[in-house]
Amino acid sequence: MAKCTAITRGGGRCRGVAIDGSGLCYSHDPDHEHDRLRAASKGGRRGGRGRPSSELQRLKGRFEELADKVLAGEVERADGAVAGQLLSGARACVRDGLAAKEQEELIARMEALEAGLDERQQGRNGGGYVKF
Ligand SMILES: [Zn+2]
Repeated sequence: MAKCTAITRGGGRCRGVAIDGSGLCYSHDPDHEHDRLRAASKGGRRGGRGRPSSELQRLKGRFEELADKVLAGEVERADGAVAGQLLSGARACVRDGLAAKEQEELIARMEALEAGLDERQQGRNGGGYVKF
């Protein structure tokens, strides 16, 4: 298989595999750069951005991109490991945010339920007034 002819930011030859005789790998081929950007903006336009599920999806993309770059020699293994850890932290934030949101929704539902019970009790006592 042909190797990518691009030079990495580190000054070394890219170790990625060239696609379709372009002489460039997926991350260096400008055609695919275009595809990636279009895919990214399409994802943003769907309006899902900011939602935990789409945030996780985005992070998954970052993880894969990072793994590709480490394998292609564009990112040093040590840098890749640190970036991976930081991405992991971001993922934990999204996950914790999701758990917190679920709890808030649960609490809101319980409060609504309690309010409903109170109303019913008040109704049973007549006229909406609570007798003690
Ligand atoms: Zn390349």
